[in-house]
Amino acid sequence: MNRLARQFGLGIVGSFMLMPAWAQDLQTVLLVSIDALHPAALQADGAPNLESLKRPGQFTLEGRSVNPPQTLIAHTAMLTGLSPEQGGKQDNNWQPGEPRVAHETLLDFAKKQGFETGYFYAKPKLGYLITPSISSHALARDDGVERAQAFLREPGQRFVFLHLSGLDEAGPDSGWLSKDYLDELRYIDRSLAPLLTDVRQRGTYLIVVTSDHAGHERLHGTSHPEDFKLPLLVQASWPLPGIVQDQFSIVRVRPMVQNAMAQLNGETKN
Ligand SMILES: [Zn+2]
Repeated sequence: MNRLARQFGLGIVGSFMLMPAWAQDLQTVLLVSIDALHPAALQADGAPNLESLKRPGQFTLEGRSVNPPQTLIAHTAMLTGLSPEQGGKQDNNWQPGEPRVAHETLLDFAKKQGFETGYFYAKPKLGYLITPSISSHALARDDGVERAQAFLREPGQRFVFLHLSGLDEAGPDSGWLSKDYLDELRYIDRSLAPLLTDVRQRGTYLIVVTSDHAGHERLHGTSHPEDFKLPLLVQASWPLPGIVQDQFSIVRVRPMVQNAMAQLNGETKN
């Protein structure tokens, strides 16, 4: 080994000895679904906190939902990795008391990995995706962010799924990408800021923000191309090269998150 290589090697050893405080097991996974978020709404001046996830981080504004691009069908695809054709949810309805999802979800996976799991959702039909491995869940129409913050106040490895509503009302009421719609996104973006701060302060983290579908004019859930659009933003404690791929489909959210979790845990255990 020449002198330069030796120094380089020592440099690596030294860097492990001086591991920063966040170099520990993955502590927090935060998966946020902003219902009905059209990727074109993600502008720096209107959503600076979401913008902060792009760099450093990875993102695509070319993600695609399932067919039909409707709330419960899409969220089932997001959390199970199964499209309607693959045995995921076929219809967009669920009432309390009816059977829930029978397939393993991302939260089941997280629980098996040792994470406590929180599931906070803004529409009753998303109760369909509650499984026995969810440690804490609540229908949270207006206080999902606060509930997620409270859940993350406890120590240890924690996984949170947070579904936020608002754009799914502003879109049909005022139109997708209308002023009211963008004002609503500005409000959502601002409300997320303290949660993002909390996650980053808990230690090694993975933050994923996406949506279930977009819309056009005052419509959504149709076969119009705009309705299928969704964004995907991924930020972690360190880069995850290639984790976000072009032509991202919502059914890839689950394997992508699992892959990212493995990388973030695996790296720290070396
Ligand atoms: Zn929706």
